[in-house]
Amino acid sequence: EDLPGVDAAKGFYQKYEPKEVLGKGLSSVVRKCICKQSGVEYAVKIMDMSGSNEDNANISPQQLRDEVHREVSVLKRVSGHPYIVDLIDVYESTTFIFLVFELCHNGELFDYLTSKITLSEKRVRSIMKQILEAVDHCHQLHVVHRDLKPENILLDENLNIKLTDFGFAKILSEGERLWEICGTPGYLAPELLQAGMLEAHECNGYSFEVDAWACGVIMYTLLCGCPPFWHRRQILMIRLICEGRYSFSSPEWDNITDEAKDLISKLLVVNPNNRLTISQALNHPVFRAQRHSLSRGM
Ligand code: ADP
Ligand code: MG
Repeated sequence: EDLPGVDAAKGFYQKYEPKEVLGKGLSSVVRKCICKQSGVEYAVKIMDMSGSNEDNANISPQQLRDEVHREVSVLKRVSGHPYIVDLIDVYESTTFIFLVFELCHNGELFDYLTSKITLSEKRVRSIMKQILEAVDHCHQLHVVHRDLKPENILLDENLNIKLTDFGFAKILSEGERLWEICGTPGYLAPELLQAGMLEAHECNGYSFEVDAWACGVIMYTLLCGCPPFWHRRQILMIRLICEGRYSFSSPEWDNITDEAKDLISKLLVVNPNNRLTISQALNHPVFRAQRHSLSRGM
């Protein structure tokens, strides 16, 4: 496979100087780094391939490496979009893989949200439009993301979004169905939970629609500051999701427009066949209204 700039780990350290930790995942650490020659800052995702990491105890080093190669091939496929993080460089050694990304100076949408508690509806509309455009780009290239959530949506210096973390993403062939359970509990679509719980002959698996569900969860969360499906006992939260039971409760939702609620309610539809697709969501009136007010110079 023609990975960009595949090289030994020392190649990375020759070119970049690693700095402070920006984030941590299951098998990776993300650090700021500086290109020694240009002084430009980047983010590097350093993945431990040695198998010594206890979180990866149940997966072989070769499986782990295959998964990172899958992440890289997806990144190469979707990169070059204004709302998707750009992969700059890849360095691969026997024990580590380094993925160098453009740096998103304003960190996670998650932290931005918690610092503000809730965002204005106008702001949420503009963020959601960017998220949907990024996901639409992925779907058009047959890539399903499977882990959309505010921790994986970063903000650049202008507070525009950059979608990242394609660690669970997959390129689907025509009509392909998926069965494996992956992602983050509160954002999982009902059909994905079902695929994880039922035998293969009892259900039809899942596909791109799981990303549209996650977008509904994200939009709800951005507008009211709390998730639509939550119970401290996870099994009961899963039941709420499978039944599609959530509400626009007072007072948090009193000042949110019917248009915004309408889009959320058309994304949080239990039957994936009746759920809006990402491109349908982009055509929802909630975004037309925004274009209108923008054209009046607001
Ligand atoms: P994981 O698969 O381990 O979740 P991510 O790719 O989501 O790894 O990165 C983990 C965290 O690192 C992100 O949630 C974010 O806080 C930070 N991070 C990742 N990439 C960047 C980037 N390009 N710029 C700034 N921070 C980043
Ligand atoms: Mg992540």
